[in-house]
Order: sequence, then C-alpha cells, then structure tokens
Amino acid sequence: MSWEDNVRRVEPYVPGEQPKDGEKIIKLNTNEMPYPPSPKVFEALKAFDASSLRLYPAADVGPLRDALADHYGFAHDEVFVGVGSDDVLATAFLTFFNSEKPVIFPDITYSFYDVWAEVYRIPYETKPLDDDFHMVKSDYMCENGGIVIANPNAPTGVSEMDDIAFIEDIVAANPQSVVIADEAYVDFGGVTAVELTRKYDNLLVVRTFSKSRAFAGMRIGFAVGNRKLIKYLNDVKYSINSYTMNRPAIELGIASLSDNEYFKETVDKVMSTRQWAIDELRSRGFAVTDSKTNFVFASPSKISAEELFRKLKERGIYVRWWDKPRLRDWLRISVGTDEEMRTLIREIDSIMGS
Ligand code: PMP
Repeated sequence: MSWEDNVRRVEPYVPGEQPKDGEKIIKLNTNEMPYPPSPKVFEALKAFDASSLRLYPAADVGPLRDALADHYGFAHDEVFVGVGSDDVLATAFLTFFNSEKPVIFPDITYSFYDVWAEVYRIPYETKPLDDDFHMVKSDYMCENGGIVIANPNAPTGVSEMDDIAFIEDIVAANPQSVVIADEAYVDFGGVTAVELTRKYDNLLVVRTFSKSRAFAGMRIGFAVGNRKLIKYLNDVKYSINSYTMNRPAIELGIASLSDNEYFKETVDKVMSTRQWAIDELRSRGFAVTDSKTNFVFASPSKISAEELFRKLKERGIYVRWWDKPRLRDWLRISVGTDEEMRTLIREIDSIMGS
C-alpha cells in the first residue's frame, strides 16, 4: 500500500499552448480578444488603491454582482460570480450534478466538461452532434442527471439559438434536472437564453468576461439563474473558498461593464474580421462553419489540418488542432486583428503554394 493508491487521479484539461515571454508569435489558439480592455479599465487600474489589498475582498462579490445585476436587469441574488467561467462551471458541476444518472452533453463540445465529470466522479454520457455539428434535440429528452449545452458551441462555433425554442424545449422537458447553458461566446452574434431563467428554475446561464470583454487574464465569469440555484451555488462556493474574487477583479470588472460603447465597438470589429476570414478561407476551398463566436472552425481541402497546423506553427502562427475523431480534419482559429488575419491568409497561400 502506498499513498499513491489514494490519489484522486485525473487526466487534466489541456489549454492552448502559451508562448514564452518575449516570443513573437501570432496567437490564434485560445480565443482571446485581439484588442485591449476598455480605457475605463486602464483608468480604474491606475486609480486602484493598493493599500486596500490588506483587507479581504467582499465574500459575496457584492459591488460586481450589483453591477452585473443592473447591467442585465436581474436581482443581486440571481447572479453568481466566479474566477472565470471555468470556476463557475466547475462549481455548478459539483453543486447540481449529484445523481446516479448520467449528465449529458454533445460528443463535440468544450473539452473541460468530461474532465470536471471525471474529477468529481459524476457519471456522464455524450450525444453525437449531427453531420453539420448541430445538436439533435430529441437526444436530450431522456432520463439524465443534468444537461450541459455550450451555445454557441466550441470548437465548432455553431449556435443552436437561431431556433429560439431549441433550449427552451430542452429545459421544459427536463424539470427534474439542471440545464447549464455555457454562453462563453454568445456576445459575438449568438442568442442568449438568459431571459428563460425568469421562467424556468432549472436553467443556469454561464457567461464570461474573458472573450468579449478582453479579460482572459483577469478571470471573471458569472452565472444568471433562479435565486434557489444561485443560493445552492454559493453554499458550495462558501464551502470551498469564500473569497474567490480579488479586489482588483471586482473594481476592474465594474469599470468594464460601465463602457458599453467600447464593448460593442470591439465585438463588432471582431465579427466583421471573422466574416472576412470566413470568406477568404471558403474561397480557398476550406469548409468553414457559420461561426457565432470569436473563432472560425475550418477544414482545409488541399492539405491535412494537421500539416497546416504544424506548418503555421513553424511560421509563428498558433492555431488549435485536436487529434480526435471528428475533429482531426479541422482547425480552430481565433479571430485576431485585421492585420493578423491577413498574415494568416498570406501564410496559408504560401504553404499551399498558390
Ligand atoms: N466555456 C467555453 C465553451 C470555453 O471555450 C471557455 C474558454 N476556454 C470557457 C468556458 C472558460 O473560459 P473562462 O474560464 O476564461 O471564462
């Protein structure tokens, strides 16, 4: 017998590769925003009083929760805040998925879901997306211990809310379990299910500041849901770590929310660059999904996705490729600045010899 027999062993989630400091690359592999946060955030950071750091932050994330509640038109106790949406999702898995029945989610989706299920010993089952990477609604009308839907989905970029009833039908058909809608990318042209949380007490909508608010390095995520859901989430959070959100995160998060104009302008810019990149790739024979996110999901026709991934990397452009069934013919490419995307297309042309 060794102490190692008692280790909680897991196969961890693998995030996109981070370049070493000072390395000059075009980084299109982790869906970060190519633009900085709002100038209001720079001002708030300059004005931040470092002497306040001796005091613990608000355990209930009070002022940021209030600002989020105001911004989205909900009450303080209908909002939960965490250290990025990964923290919110992990807490939600631990809180709501406590059944012997399997939690269900698509076979192709955010690859952290099965990792949380494994680490918390939650049984789960995946349901195949159809050939166009859409969910099959009837697959989610079965007995289950919970449902997770990334909408728009990653890494496909595909949204299910063009049919507004899609998520509502699933939520309404499953009153016995909690449905988590992970809307990490919804600001880039998706349709949010957040209003449905007023009607259904089993829907939790999870959002993040990491993408559309250019805050990946600050780590702010939040959830909107019925008061009872939020209370249960907070009970679990307070049972692990009371002070999850640090003082700078609370203050800078509020500053970010105060600048809607900048938010809209930068998100719009990403969406128009995305359309340009999709058109360019399609004209070169790539299959590309109709992305409602800040990345494009593209399959080359004249070269394997793996080879293109490696050759782009040699040329200092990082994109994401997975050696997994149904994914290995595809690349996920985050939308960068116009200039970065022009360089990407130029390098693709040079690799493909046109
Ligand atoms: N959900 C999805 C679908 C994602 O792609 C990501 C980003 N990796 C997250 C959640 C988590 O992002 P964050 O923790 O930065 O909010």
